[in-house]
Amino acid sequence: MEAPTPRGKATRERGELNAPKIALALLSSECGVCAGPHQPSDRLVADQDRRAWARELGPTWAALLERSGGDLPTTRGLLRRFLDAPRAAPAARGFERLLRSGRLRLRLGRQSRIIAEPMGTPSWVAAWGVATMLSSHPGRLRRCAHPACGCYFLDTSRSGRRKWCAMALCGNRVKAQRHYRRAER
Ligand SMILES: [Zn+2]
Ligand SMILES: [Zn+2]
Repeated sequence: MEAPTPRGKATRERGELNAPKIALALLSSECGVCAGPHQPSDRLVADQDRRAWARELGPTWAALLERSGGDLPTTRGLLRRFLDAPRAAPAARGFERLLRSGRLRLRLGRQSRIIAEPMGTPSWVAAWGVATMLSSHPGRLRRCAHPACGCYFLDTSRSGRRKWCAMALCGNRVKAQRHYRRAER
């Protein structure tokens, strides 16, 4: 019997990667607006920042990153360009090249659940996470509407009209700015 996962949802098994969550975290790893008080705006530049960022996404991801690193900032740039303009040829070609560089190995988990194990680089895992969200929620993986925010989110709302990565942060900031602009006139 497999040991229960200490943290996280019961639906994930030990060693399993949450590729969509990883992809969103990579896409949003550079933002001058949302970074915490003791965080750099780009969390992938310094080794210790990158390690702390990776640990937040679980030990399997942190270990994969230690093992096979790769150029995540470049991958982040490519994925962002692709999402911002999916029909632009160079970004689409780069995204496809990345997708082709890895594969999934399927195995049986608890209660006959199929577990997809990534066989690829960290960059490939992120691309796979993006691909998963594009097929589960077409058109719903978007950049935050705050002009200075670099974060991306998956809009799972019923209306599909979510605009901000976090209403409490970016939504209120933009609304406050609009309010001040109106008051100045
Ligand atoms: Zn942000
Ligand atoms: Zn935002």
